[in-house]
Amino acid sequence: MAGLIKREDIDAVRERVDLREVVEQYVTLKGAGIGSWKGLCPFHDERTPSFHIRPHVGTYHCFGCGESGDVIAFLMAMEHTSFQETVERLAHKAGITLRYEDGGTGPTKQEIGRRQRLLDAHKIADEFFQAQLQSPEAQIGRDFLTGRGFTREHAEQFSVGFAPKSWDALLKHLRSKGFRDDEELRLTGLFSEGNRGLYDRFRGRLIWPIRDMTGNTVGFGGRRLFDDDKGPKYLNSPETQIYKKSQVLYGIEMAKRNIAKKRELVVVEGYTDVMACHVAGVDTAVATCGTAFGEGHVKISRRLLSDDGGGGEVIFTFDGDEAGQAAALKAFKEDHMFLARTFIAVGPEGMDPCDVRQHRGDDAVEELIRSRRPLFEFAIRAGMKDYDLSTVEGRVGALRYAAPVVASIKDSALRPAYTRELAGWLGMDMDEVTRAVSRSHGQAPQMSGGPRRRQPRPDDGRGERPRRPDARRPDARRPEPGRHESGRHQSGRHQSGRSGARQDESHRTESRRQGPPEGGPDTSWDVPEDAYVDGSPPDAFGAEGHGGAVAGQGPEQQGQLFPRPDTRDPAVMMERQALEVILQHPTRLTAEQWEEIFTVRFTAPAHAAVHAGIRSAAASATDPRNWISAVSDEVPQPLRSLVGELAVAQLPARTEDDVEVYCQSILNRLVELQITHQKADLLGRLQRMDPTDAPEEYQRLNREVMELERRRRALRAED
Ligand SMILES: [Zn+2]
Repeated sequence: MAGLIKREDIDAVRERVDLREVVEQYVTLKGAGIGSWKGLCPFHDERTPSFHIRPHVGTYHCFGCGESGDVIAFLMAMEHTSFQETVERLAHKAGITLRYEDGGTGPTKQEIGRRQRLLDAHKIADEFFQAQLQSPEAQIGRDFLTGRGFTREHAEQFSVGFAPKSWDALLKHLRSKGFRDDEELRLTGLFSEGNRGLYDRFRGRLIWPIRDMTGNTVGFGGRRLFDDDKGPKYLNSPETQIYKKSQVLYGIEMAKRNIAKKRELVVVEGYTDVMACHVAGVDTAVATCGTAFGEGHVKISRRLLSDDGGGGEVIFTFDGDEAGQAAALKAFKEDHMFLARTFIAVGPEGMDPCDVRQHRGDDAVEELIRSRRPLFEFAIRAGMKDYDLSTVEGRVGALRYAAPVVASIKDSALRPAYTRELAGWLGMDMDEVTRAVSRSHGQAPQMSGGPRRRQPRPDDGRGERPRRPDARRPDARRPEPGRHESGRHQSGRHQSGRSGARQDESHRTESRRQGPPEGGPDTSWDVPEDAYVDGSPPDAFGAEGHGGAVAGQGPEQQGQLFPRPDTRDPAVMMERQALEVILQHPTRLTAEQWEEIFTVRFTAPAHAAVHAGIRSAAASATDPRNWISAVSDEVPQPLRSLVGELAVAQLPARTEDDVEVYCQSILNRLVELQITHQKADLLGRLQRMDPTDAPEEYQRLNREVMELERRRRALRAED
């Protein structure tokens, strides 16, 4: 087994990799002041962004759930990879050759992260399939594409490939590229297995590569082409370490920037539909791969859409047929998870986007998407088909079905209009329908899968509450104990990724949405779910149940309490501001300022502990991007989140010059405060002294007081 990666090399990786670039692969970020960005937190579900990053110190911190860390910790969490594997991947991308502590040769091929090997195999397979599309045998595949209105350029644009009608074409190819271990080949999901061993899973099919957000190919979808093929029409990769169908979206790597920019997501059903949409200019289209659009897809989409209640549209296109309707209703079940408005676009005569483009041209695809109708309207009408509206019983049944759906409409201004519509569809009296709707307000609409999952309703407030993270008082936004799912409290992702030994991620739990309320009838879909209760800050770091700051701590840390510094005290506030400056802008400090800072006494215990961490870390840190990790490593675990918080807190500065002025003024005030303390000490000693006892000592102390006063004045002049 290879040894631990050398610390300098880990530091080098952290220095070279841009945190913002990495985070943006997963979260859409917007500016949040000088050198700072924010977006929807990938570690907990929220509706207003509290996830902040500060790339030049390489740190992220979520003011909502308290998650903090560096680029390595971030990727470990996103990709579920080990520490070593993550560093190896980043190093590979940054062109850094890693060295290992045991002086050995480093990892062998097999020891390099398995995930990387799987990605390599997929990359090779992807290229292989694409090359095969030009072979004579692939004529049938090229004809299929031409028949659907796609040119050779389109095929190249979407990396469409062809799997030869052979049992071992890909198998032989991968073996020739160094994949000789059957166990490893099995894990790729690219092969099936029979009595005589492995054979190609995809045979005689048109192939679409399915890629993750960062553009890595993680699986394939293949369409049947030959009449004698008894397999399914569409065949996808099975679940593997890198392919999770509940999370992959075909086309996401092409669409993600447009989704973020336009705040629109179009969900279509098939690979050719994604192609048709993009070719026709609807460049926000994606498709699920062999599964319905579910919770995992919603999470990914919301992060890209910056789904914070400030707009955004999700448009589903489904066939008008039975299967399409079922898919639409399934999508409607997840609808409440979006703040964005959800729509459905059904093609004329049940045509899908690919048909529409083929028969009516590019513009018709755009028109199809623009002809969208609200998803709930579709759900109401689809469900009402089960009732015979010519009978009284049928109409009452249909009303009983539809009223909760109308009552659950997110946009309350739309509810009366739809109540009226519903009355019209049913041919019933408006008053009666209105009463039914208000009666069922907050009651779960009965969809095919039983009662829908709902959000607990923290209060009746429909109005937008300002919940912008306040950089000065982020503590006010910490979650109230018990309000959030317990799963998150167990997730301790505070490893700064400094030590190779921190590879255990088994304690990490995927943050989960709140489940349905236990018997709480008064629920509604339009309640912001990350409703932190303002004004209930936790009293301490290290106390049980107070946000992520304590998560995952070992028994040795329990009982180690750090009261949350009371920043209403100006001196404590001063300390906090100074720590922010020191953590965020270590390079702005002169050697003299460092000297001064080392001697400063911090009064709040949490601040004093962070200050001590700074002192120990200052000896070894070389690059600002390693600075925060170094400090994190030196503070007690419950305080790591505080370090992250201080590292991303917004400074009151609008320009780079402002930042410089602010930093210097804070540092001066800190030193001045220190001088004031020292002077008070000295004056006390002088008072207690008899000058005739030790005249020299007395004079020396006097000179010291004068010197302190001179320095204090000098600092004042600088301010
Ligand atoms: Zn968070």
